[in-house]
Amino acid sequence: MTHTTTDPLADQVIRQAQLISQLRQDLNQLASEITDAYADLVSRIEGIDATSTTGARSAAAWCWRDLGPEAATELQAELDSWVSWLRHRYPLAKKIPPCWSEHPEVVEEITALWLAWQAAYQEPGPSLIAAADWHDRWLPGLIHRLEHGPHAINCSTIHQPRPEAAYA
Ligand SMILES: [Zn+2]
Repeated sequence: MTHTTTDPLADQVIRQAQLISQLRQDLNQLASEITDAYADLVSRIEGIDATSTTGARSAAAWCWRDLGPEAATELQAELDSWVSWLRHRYPLAKKIPPCWSEHPEVVEEITALWLAWQAAYQEPGPSLIAAADWHDRWLPGLIHRLEHGPHAINCSTIHQPRPEAAYA
């Protein structure tokens, strides 16, 4: 909106006032954009922090000895899912008894087998023979320990827990 008066000085003051008003709007707009950009930056940095913290935590995310109840539940769910896949993928893996999660030492063994599988298939830049090792050593090694020797699991038909004394 343009005001005109008969006084040139007054007209000039009005034009200056309009200019100042426009500059103020531009400044507000700029401030708002900077605030948005800052918030976006902060959220990105927090995302990076969260990722690196998760990465640091994951170093111990499979150490049952150090897990809290929530992390233990998460890891158990992950292993359940993986073992289920494994049992359908490899008939040999059906020798892992359905009650495996009731046996603390088998939980540890399965966790280690799962980590070896991840190292072979899911880690960036895996060793080219890791998958062969997993098939030749780690999977059959675990199955062998489950079935043979003084600490074999004898739960093919029904879960037979070891006596408490075995873990004392
Ligand atoms: Zn059992």
